[in-house]
Amino acid sequence: MEKPGMAQFVRSDLKSFTSYPAHTSPEFMREKFGLNPEDIIKLDANENPYGCSPGVSRALKADLSYSIYPDALQTQLRRQLSIYTAVAEERIVAGAGSDQLIDLIIRLVVNPGDEIINLPPTFAMYSFYARLSRAAVIEIKRDDSFDFSADAVEKHITPRTRLIFLANPNNPSGNATARQKIIRLLQTGVLVVVDEAYYEFSKETVMPLVEQYDNLVVLRTFSKWAGLAGLRIGYGVFPVELAEYMLRIKDPYSINVAAQIAAVESLKDRDLLLGRVDSIIMERERLSGRLQQIEGVSPLPSKANFILCRIDNGHAARLAGELKSRGILVRYFNSPGLDSCIRISVGKPVHNEILLDTLVEIMAEVSQC
Ligand code: PMP
Repeated sequence: MEKPGMAQFVRSDLKSFTSYPAHTSPEFMREKFGLNPEDIIKLDANENPYGCSPGVSRALKADLSYSIYPDALQTQLRRQLSIYTAVAEERIVAGAGSDQLIDLIIRLVVNPGDEIINLPPTFAMYSFYARLSRAAVIEIKRDDSFDFSADAVEKHITPRTRLIFLANPNNPSGNATARQKIIRLLQTGVLVVVDEAYYEFSKETVMPLVEQYDNLVVLRTFSKWAGLAGLRIGYGVFPVELAEYMLRIKDPYSINVAAQIAAVESLKDRDLLLGRVDSIIMERERLSGRLQQIEGVSPLPSKANFILCRIDNGHAARLAGELKSRGILVRYFNSPGLDSCIRISVGKPVHNEILLDTLVEIMAEVSQC
C-alpha cells in the first residue's frame, strides 16, 4: 500500500491510473486455495498448453552465453523472421513481448493530447499504454457480434488522430475483421496497427499489404503459437523508416539472451509447433460444440486459441469464481460489453473435459439459485 502523502511525488494524471488486470498466477492460487501449480487447470491467459518446443528446451539448457548482453540489433532473429514472414529484415523489429512494441509505437508517434482510436471490447494494453503516454483514447464500441463499422472509424478521425489499433482476430471475442475493412482503415492514411497475436490460429494476415501501404504495422508474438509467453518475445513489421525509429528509441537489451535463442529455435521447430497449433484448432472446435450443449452457455465462433462464452442470467462472475475455487482458471472481465461473458483458453483435451464436467455441475447449481 502507498504511504499517505506519497501521491505528491506521482505525475498528476497517474494518480488515478488503473492497472492492467493481469491473469491469476499459480503463486496466488497456492496462497489463496492451497493448490499446487500441477493441480491448476490454467485457461485464463491464452497460453499454449503444450509449452515450448523441445528444441527450445535443449538450446536453453546448452547455451553458455547468459553472462553476455544480448544482441541489440537482433541480427539472427530478424534474419530468421524475415524468412518466416517473407518480408525484408529492415522492416522487422522484435520486442520484449508485442506489449513492448505497442508501448514503443505509441511513444514514437503520440504527443500528449493526440488521439488514438480503439475498438473495445478489445485487448486492454492499447488503452493502457495510450493513457501512460497521455494520449486521448477515442473508443468506438463494437456491436453485439463484436464487429465495428469502418464508417464510424472514419467519422472519428481528426487532425489529432495518430493511430488506429485493431486486434485481428480480436481478443477477447475471437472474431476476425475482413481484409476489405482493414483496407478501408488503411485508406484513411492514419497509421494502422493490425495486431496478429493469434495469426497462426486464424491463418488470416495482412502481412502482404505492408509493401503496398506505408501506414501499416503488423504485430505478432511468440507467446501463443510457440509457447514462449513467459520469455516475453514478439515482433512487428513496419515501414522501413519507422522500423529504424523504433530501433532508435527501443532500450537495447530488452529482449534477453534466452528469449532471442528461444525465438530462433522456435522458428527452426516451426513444423512441430504449427502441428500443435492445428491440434489446438481442432480441439477449439470440439470444445465449442460441447460448450454449446450446456444450458445457459453460448460460445461465440473463434479464430484464435480461446472461446468467449455468453453466460445467461448474470451468472458469469459467479461461474468464474466457482471455477477458480476448484482450481480451474478462466477469464472474467468486469467491463462494459463483457460482464456477461467468460473467456476460456483452449487447453489439452483432458483438461477441457474436466472444465466441461465442472461447468455442467456449477451451471446446474447456479440456475437453482
Ligand atoms: N495482442 C493481443 C491481441 C494479445 O491478446 C496479447 C496477449 N494476450 C498480446 C498482444 C501481447 O502479447 P505478448 O505476450 O507478446 O506481449
